Amino acid sequence: MAYKVPFVDYPRHNRHLMKGLMPVIRDVVFNRADFILRGDLKQFEKTFAQFLGVRHAVGLNSGTDALFLSLYAAGIGRGDEVITVAHTFVATIAAVVRCGAKPVLVDIKEDFNMNVDLIEKAITSRTRAVLPVHLNGRVCDMAKLMGIARKHRLMVVEDAAQALGATFNGQKAGTFGFSSCFSLYPAKLLGGIGDGGVLATNSDRMAQHVRYLRDHGQKRETGDVLFYGFNTRLDNLNAAVIHAKMRYLPEWIKRRREIAGRCQKGLAGIPGLALPHFEGNRKYFDIYQNYVVRARKRDELVDFLSRKGVETLVSWRKPVHKHKGLKLSHFKLPVTEQISKEVVSLPMNTELTNQQVAYVIKCVHEFYQKN
Ligand SMILES: *Cc1c(COP(=O)(O)O)cnc(C)c1O
Repeated sequence: MAYKVPFVDYPRHNRHLMKGLMPVIRDVVFNRADFILRGDLKQFEKTFAQFLGVRHAVGLNSGTDALFLSLYAAGIGRGDEVITVAHTFVATIAAVVRCGAKPVLVDIKEDFNMNVDLIEKAITSRTRAVLPVHLNGRVCDMAKLMGIARKHRLMVVEDAAQALGATFNGQKAGTFGFSSCFSLYPAKLLGGIGDGGVLATNSDRMAQHVRYLRDHGQKRETGDVLFYGFNTRLDNLNAAVIHAKMRYLPEWIKRRREIAGRCQKGLAGIPGLALPHFEGNRKYFDIYQNYVVRARKRDELVDFLSRKGVETLVSWRKPVHKHKGLKLSHFKLPVTEQISKEVVSLPMNTELTNQQVAYVIKCVHEFYQKN
């Protein structure tokens, strides 16, 4: 079934960009055939680092690998504990586990991000790092978090996969910690034509180390292999395409905030529906990777909207620690568990027209008039 209002609309997104992207693809693939670790990747990394205001951006195969290498390159492994959340994509926690370290999960707050007041209680003699997730395009409370990390000498790695361009007290997501991870997955604010990710850091050593790690540990200039590495490079073609898309970033962020504003106005005052506009908003500049509401009768609302041709997404019906195979069920996270029963992401993408947004608002009203 074709949705009247799809959650993401890749064909429409790409058609809008076709005129600008075709010459890039023609040049990279057919004129130069530049595929691996070429100039386009370098240029993209430079622009991305400039956008954030950090010294280095390293293009990788995925946001997941950026997270994994952030921890791995910092020497985090067996016997270490990393404090993070369960209300996130499984990749956040998998990165910790795949390093050999133990994830220690703390609960979240009403804005879906880590409850930083719970960090200190979770610290043990084995704690090495804190891994906050800036979910849905809102930065976690980094003032408090960084203070705690400094006091206890913990490393901070940011999962900024959903927060490119979001700020807290004027500072961009992904620039607070020792390193940070961004995702270029197609549905993300800055999506590629396939998988991709970026590790950002101000550390020269970290950046160099990860550049070797992503390329089999090779120092290409001399032919030396310095250590065992991985193959997790960002494809040059993907980098060229994403680089070309970066100029639209401010416009896309503006449009997402505009859509969120329309939803806020249009959906205000519905009993049983909590909107993602939280207290103390002035500190935060959200980029709305997702527009997530907390809804009474969530599953019925999802069904109703689907029948009306409105595609939604529930992230996540089951928090990560509730999946038996992941062996994390000893964690008790009441807010995470409650929120997973209520959250639903309404359509949010830069292709939405104002008419489509108005239609979604109308449908939500219709549901709550009956329910
Ligand atoms: C998308 C995402 C990731 C993983 O990024 P990939 O590029 O898909 O590997 C990690 N964490 C969060 C919060 C994400 O949304």
